[in-house]
Formats: sequence, structure tokens, C-alpha cells
Amino acid sequence: RTTAGLDARLVRCRACPRLVAWREETARTGRAAFRGQEYWGRPVPGFGPPDAALLISGLAPAAHGGNRTGRMFTGDRAGDLLYATLYELGLASRETVTGRDDGLELYGVRVTAPVHCAPPDNRPTPGERDACRPWLAREARLLRPTLRSVVVLGGFGWQAALPALAEAGWLVPRPRPKFGHGVRTVLAPASPGDPPLTVFGSYHVSQRNVFTGRLTREMLREVLAEAARTAGL
Ligand code: SF4
Repeated sequence: RTTAGLDARLVRCRACPRLVAWREETARTGRAAFRGQEYWGRPVPGFGPPDAALLISGLAPAAHGGNRTGRMFTGDRAGDLLYATLYELGLASRETVTGRDDGLELYGVRVTAPVHCAPPDNRPTPGERDACRPWLAREARLLRPTLRSVVVLGGFGWQAALPALAEAGWLVPRPRPKFGHGVRTVLAPASPGDPPLTVFGSYHVSQRNVFTGRLTREMLREVLAEAARTAGL
């Protein structure tokens, strides 16, 4: 099993005109701190092994983070916290990440986002979220044989992830469970005999949430540890 074919198709996607313009303009203009670096400037694929048991789904790449480095959660503070916590839990090979060639490996974990292109102000529109949902559904379907738990970061991501997981073959309860930090919901498999999928909510690892204390490192670690345990990691 490999995600290479999916990733190769994804990086050519131009379905959202506003996001295509923004990701490319940001890549052209850059930021003083990253002068001389070549920006990725395309859709950012998920990162991690194709037989992951735990999927972490955020919001969208940051203009000067994932849109610069080409790897999810790499190059901004949100990602620094996420990977440092995964390292602490024994799920990542490095505590600090710098770019796509830093040798980072994730163990049993894949990180992705429901919107694969950097949006202005980190805010995709609901239309862009819906346009990108099939990519997340395809990714989850590919992981389905081994996938046992998902951590969704933030309420916007929650709105996107549950329908994508439904498209990928799990049954989402109705009414749809509400997002909250620490909530968990179990999705039954569409095919009897397959294992269920446990979905956990966590506040997003955004700099603002961390700065205001809405999300502490301990809170994040608790949710990730529980999701990893549930996934058998
Ligand atoms: Fe394509 Fe998703 Fe990027 Fe829209 S956000 S252009 S659907 S990859």
C-alpha cells in the first residue's frame, strides 16, 4: 500500500481559484525571514506511513509553514508543538523539525488536513472545505485497513473530517457529534466485521490557542496519548 499515487494527483489540484492564487502569490513574495528559500507553493500532501493506525487532521497548511516547506505542520509553531509532543510519546523520530529533508519519521501516525492549500488568514471558506473533502476521504480510505483512531484539531476541521470519514466507509452517528476538546466518538464500520474507528477532538495547536492557554501541551499530550493507545500504538 502506498499513498504516492494519491499524493502525486493531489499536488496538481487547482480546484479552488482563491487558494491557488494565494498559495502561489505567497510562494512568489515569501517572507523576509525565509529569503532565499524556494517555497513549495502547491497543495501539501499528508505525511506519514500509508499503514498508519492514527491519523491527525488539522485545518490547512500555513502560508509560510507547510506552503513553504511542502510538508504538513512543518515550518511553523503549530507544527513544532505537534511534532515535539509526538516525539515525547515515542511516535516521531525527532523532537524538532526543520524541513522536508530533516529525516523525520512518524511511527504508525500520519498527519494531514481537510484543506490542502494555504488559505488567506488561515481561513478556508466552507466551499473550499467541501471542495477539498474528497482528498481527505481518499486518504482515509487508503489507510482504512490499519486506521483505528483519528485526532481532529479544531471545530472547522471537525466539520470537514466527519463527512470525509463517512465517505471513506465509516458510519457517523446522527445527529452528528459536536466538537469539543477531549470529546470522542466511535464510528461503526460500514462493512460488518471491520473494526470501528474512534475519533477524538482536540483544540487546534494554533499559536493563538497555545498563547492564550486554551490549549496547553499537557492537554494535547493527553488526547494524543489516548488516541495512540486506542490505535494500539
Ligand atoms: Fe485542490 Fe484542496 Fe487545494 Fe482546493 S484546497 S485547490 S481542492 S488541493
